[in-house]
Amino acid sequence: MSDVIQLSNFIAGNWQPSLCEHWIENISPATGEHIANIPCSTDEDIDLAVEAAIDAADEWAQLSLKERADWLERIAGALEERADEIAQLESLDTGKPITLARNVDAARSVANFRFFAEQGREFESEIFEMSDATNRVLYKPVGVAGLITPWNLPLYLLSWKVAPALLMGNTIVAKPSEMTPMTASLLAEVMEEVDLPRGVFNLVHGNGLDAGAPLTSHPDVDLISFTGGTTTGREVAKSASSGFKKLSLELGGKNATIIREDVDLESMIPGIVRASFLNQGQVCLCGSRILIHESIYDSFIDAFLNAVSDMIVGDPSDEDTELGALISAAHRDKVMAYIDLAEEEGGDILCGGGAPVGIPDAFEHGFWISPTVIDGLSPDSRCATEEIFGPVVTLHPFADDSEAIEIANMTDYGLAGSIWTQDAEAGSQMAEKIESGMIWVNCWLHRDLRVPFGGVKNSGVGREGGRWSLSFFSEAINICVKR
Ligand code: NAD
Repeated sequence: MSDVIQLSNFIAGNWQPSLCEHWIENISPATGEHIANIPCSTDEDIDLAVEAAIDAADEWAQLSLKERADWLERIAGALEERADEIAQLESLDTGKPITLARNVDAARSVANFRFFAEQGREFESEIFEMSDATNRVLYKPVGVAGLITPWNLPLYLLSWKVAPALLMGNTIVAKPSEMTPMTASLLAEVMEEVDLPRGVFNLVHGNGLDAGAPLTSHPDVDLISFTGGTTTGREVAKSASSGFKKLSLELGGKNATIIREDVDLESMIPGIVRASFLNQGQVCLCGSRILIHESIYDSFIDAFLNAVSDMIVGDPSDEDTELGALISAAHRDKVMAYIDLAEEEGGDILCGGGAPVGIPDAFEHGFWISPTVIDGLSPDSRCATEEIFGPVVTLHPFADDSEAIEIANMTDYGLAGSIWTQDAEAGSQMAEKIESGMIWVNCWLHRDLRVPFGGVKNSGVGREGGRWSLSFFSEAINICVKR
């Protein structure tokens, strides 16, 4: 118990427990051990944090964009100095492999602040001339931004919101996932270290109903940026709508990976495996339905299974590990329930389907599932259309491009997808017909931070990324001066 980390809220520059002094246990996904306690905050803590954000708002809003960009640069520098620590904490808290935590989570968290600092320096307000007047567009802060984030990419996604929100002059109340609180606390430490003015960034830990819901309904919160599940997103939208808050919802996905008959399998298989199983399949963009041209169905399965069976599952701190643990016992059980359902629906489990064999004793109480590949399911079955969010993919044959598109669009989600082909032009044409916010051709999660990011259908509302983030985190005001 002595090694259990005690985390606090960070409100108006002070570290404090929740006013009710209740705690939530934070569990290591890899070992099942109790590793930290976080405040189980309630509406009273949210009230305090919102008050602090309001108090800090005027001073922060008065800084120029260039001055706020300099703040982002300072934060990026301080985070970069702690990149190893970020990777260690993220791996401990999520159960993901340390290499992934280092190369993706830690690196991107720093990059998010640098990128938006650069965006701030390059930002130019528009001028629209008329024959007798000049229109000048001004980008004002929205006010207090409520930022709610999930557990799969904790600091990566939080920094993706914090950086543009700060840049555009908003003050912040952040509520990270109760399952992965560690790096949000580290970010608050960094804000303290660089002397960010008190109250500009506030952090409230806690669960969704007790801390998240009061943030979304708070009358003095002007904007909500939410990333998480579609069911939660619906609640957030209802709660935020009564106060006409600005709202961005980045929600779930059930993305298709389309393998055309002309694919160069040998060179593309590693990318397809990565799209299927990165972060144990717990990335909203992962391709969990693989649609394969019928003429290469069998050869694809052989090559894919070969590559999947080579993946190293185990100790997240080992540099060679490729797949770690799932986030929680409840999530592991949910994913296993889908694997059971797949069998009931007539699916054939080609590999995986349970805990990895030979996992070391230290991890026997963790939450593990081997990469699982399922064949033989109808493309409109529940397992092939609902978000599982784990290391599970289903395989489906198609006869031609139009059937692949029809299957790809057979879900209520519309977040992402990828197409693998030697005919990049045909792939690009096909991408236009897929109902998703983002499609990659011959790659996956190849991110340029300037492009729009977001989903259609049940995968979300609004876009973040590049100038879309700057626009979302600000109010565009037009001033028309007649000559
Ligand atoms: P979740 O919806 O359970 O929780 C997300 C956050 O919302 C957490 O901080 C949680 O405490 C909070 N929350 C829960 N109930 C709330 C409520 N009623 N009001 C306000 N806040 C509430 O999601 P999760 O399980 O943490 O994350 C996994 C989901 O996130 C998956 O569906 C995944 O696809 C999605 N996701 C989407 C993106 C994207 O960019 N589209 C990125 C990552 C994850």
